[in-house]
Amino acid sequence: MSERYQQFFRRSIKEKEAFWEVQAEQIYWHRKWDRVLDYDNPPFAWWYVGGETNTCYNCVDRHLEARGDQNAIVWVSTEVNQTRTLTYRELHGEIIRYAAVLRDLGVAKGDRVIIYLPMIPEALVAMLACMRLGAIHSVVFGGFAPHNLAARIDDARPKVLITADAGMRAGKVVRYKPLVDRAIEASKHAPQKVLLINRGIDKDMPLTPGRDLDLAELAAKQDGATVETVWVESREPSYILYTSGTTGTPKGVQRDTGGHTVALAASMKHIYGCKPGETYWATSDIGWVVGHSYIVYAPLLHGMTTIVYEGTPINPDPAIWWKIVEEHRVNVMFSAPTAVRILRREDPRYMRQHNVSSLRTLFLAGEPLDAPSYHWVHENLGVTVLDHYWQTESGWPMLANCVGVQLEEVKPGSPTFPVYGWDLLTVDDESGKVMPAGQRGVLVARPPLPPGALSTVWGDDQRFLDSYFSHYPELLYYTGDYAIRDADNYFFVLGRADEVINVAGHRLGTREIEEAISGHPAIAEVAAVGVKDELKGQAVVAIVVLKNDVTLSEEEVAVAVKKQVDDQVGPIARPREVHVVAGLPKTRSGKVIRRAITAMAEGRDAGDLSTLEDETTIEDIQKAVGGAS
Ligand code: AMP
Repeated sequence: MSERYQQFFRRSIKEKEAFWEVQAEQIYWHRKWDRVLDYDNPPFAWWYVGGETNTCYNCVDRHLEARGDQNAIVWVSTEVNQTRTLTYRELHGEIIRYAAVLRDLGVAKGDRVIIYLPMIPEALVAMLACMRLGAIHSVVFGGFAPHNLAARIDDARPKVLITADAGMRAGKVVRYKPLVDRAIEASKHAPQKVLLINRGIDKDMPLTPGRDLDLAELAAKQDGATVETVWVESREPSYILYTSGTTGTPKGVQRDTGGHTVALAASMKHIYGCKPGETYWATSDIGWVVGHSYIVYAPLLHGMTTIVYEGTPINPDPAIWWKIVEEHRVNVMFSAPTAVRILRREDPRYMRQHNVSSLRTLFLAGEPLDAPSYHWVHENLGVTVLDHYWQTESGWPMLANCVGVQLEEVKPGSPTFPVYGWDLLTVDDESGKVMPAGQRGVLVARPPLPPGALSTVWGDDQRFLDSYFSHYPELLYYTGDYAIRDADNYFFVLGRADEVINVAGHRLGTREIEEAISGHPAIAEVAAVGVKDELKGQAVVAIVVLKNDVTLSEEEVAVAVKKQVDDQVGPIARPREVHVVAGLPKTRSGKVIRRAITAMAEGRDAGDLSTLEDETTIEDIQKAVGGAS
C-alpha cells in the first residue's frame, strides 16, 4: 500500500471527524452542522447533525451558473432507437415541473413516492424532484413482479407511485402498468395517485379513472412554476431502497441526506478519480444501488455528464458499448463482471472497432471478478480495469483501488484495500475473533459506519440491529460475505456466507424464492440454492418435494415452479433447474442442509453429513441433479 493512501486511510479512521469535515466542504450546506458525528447510541451513527442541505440542489442548481449548457444526462436507448440529451438547465426545468406536480398532489417532506420505471431520463427527473421536495423515493427495479412490488408498497406506504406504460428488454415489450395494477390490488396501503409516463409503447395501457394521471400533461401545465428547494436536516431520510436478506421480507435500506450527499461527492473524486465536466457511464439500472449512486447522484453532484442506457451489451451488436464510449467521449465506466462474461463469448474484435481513447478506467462490481474475465477485458480494451466491492447497505464502495488518491498495484481477483472510512477486517464465522492474513473469515466493519452507509432499516431499528450487528460479541457490521486478506492487506471476496444468492450481480434471498415456490398448491417443501453459473456467476436451483396426492410430471412441476417465481419475485429469480425429490436432506434438528444441496448441484462432494437425519435424501438429490457422488 502506498504511503499516500495509507495516510489518507489512517486519517479517515483515527481522526474521522476531522476527515469527514473536510469532505463535507465538497457540497453546499444551507446551514452548517452542529456536530460532525453523533455516535451516542452505537451502532447508530448520525453524520453532520443539525446541518441542512438538499441533494437535488447539490446535483443541479449548484451547477447552473458554471454548467448550465453542459449535458447533465445523455440518454441512449438501443431498445427504441432514440437518444435524448438534457443540459443542466433543461434538467433543472424538468425537475421543477415534476416537483410542482408532486407538490400539487400533496407530496411534502417525509412523504414516500414509489418509482417503478424503465431506464428513461424521466426516472432521474422523478428521483431528483422527490429530493427537491424532501420527499423520500423508493425506486423498485422494473423487473420485479407484482407480489414483490406490493410488499414494498405496503412497507413504504407511498402517497404517489410513478410508472410508465412499458419498458423494453432485449427487444421484448414489458408492460409495466398491468403489473402495477396487480400490485396495487394486492396491497393494503395503495398510493392515492399513480402518475404515468406514456411512452407510446403499450397502446392498450389500462387506466383507472380518478387515480391514474398523465404526468406529461400535468407537467406541461406547470411551465413557469417555481418550487423552492426544501432544506432537509442531515439525518432525515433521502431514500429507501429494498434489498433481499436471509428472511422472506425485503429490508428497506434507509439512507440519510447529508452523509449520503457528502459520501457520493467524495467518492467521485477519491475512488473514481473523476473531474467535473467529464462523462461517466454506469451500465446498471436505476432500480439497484449502483444506479442510484452512480447513474444518478454521484455524477451530477460532481458536475459530470451521466450516460443513461436502455439496452443490452450485445444489441444491435457486441460493439455497441464501445460505440457509445466513442460517440460520447466517456471517461470512466462502471459495469459488472456478468457483462464482461457476456462480451467474452463474442469475438474480441468488437472491442477494437471503436476509438475508446477517452476511456481511462473501467470499474467492475457486484460479484466476484474472476481472473480470466479480468485479463480478457483488460487486454482487449486496453484500459485500467479495477474491481471494487460494495453493497446496497454501504451505498458506495467499501473495498477499492482509490485511483483519485493513488493507483495501487492491481492484483487480479482482489478489489484491493479497504476504502477510507471503512474499518474492515475478517473474523472467524463462529467466534468473531480476528482472522490472520491468509485465512478465510467473514468480512465485517467496525462501526461507526462512515457517511452514506445505511442509517437503519426503514421503520425497524431492531431489524437493523439484528441483521447487521448481532453476530458477534463485539459490535461489528456483518456484510454476509467471506473474504481473505493477504500479507499485503489486499482483500479477496469469496462469496456469501449466508443464504443469499447473487445472480448477475443482483442479490436474491433464498427465502423469498422459497416462499414464492411453496405458495404453489402442489409443493410441500422446497429448498432454493445458488449454484455456480458460467455466465451469471450464480443461478438458482430449486429442489422440491411434492404433496402426496400430486400427479404432475417433473416437467409440469418445473414449468409451474418457474411461473410461480416469475409471478412473485420476477424473471430474474427464475430457477435454472427444478428437481423433484422425495425429501430434503435435514439435520436431526430439522434444518435443511443447503451446503450439501449446493455442493451436489455443482457436481461436488456433499461434504460433512454427520448431522444428517436420513441418508436416502442425499442419494435422491444426487440422482436428481446427476452430479458426482
Ligand atoms: P447488492 O447489495 O445487491 O449490491 O449486493 C452486494 C453483494 O454483492 C455483496 O455482499 C457481495 O456478495 C457481492 N459483491 C459486490 N461487489 C463484489 C465484488 N467486487 N467482489 C465480490 N463480490 C461482490
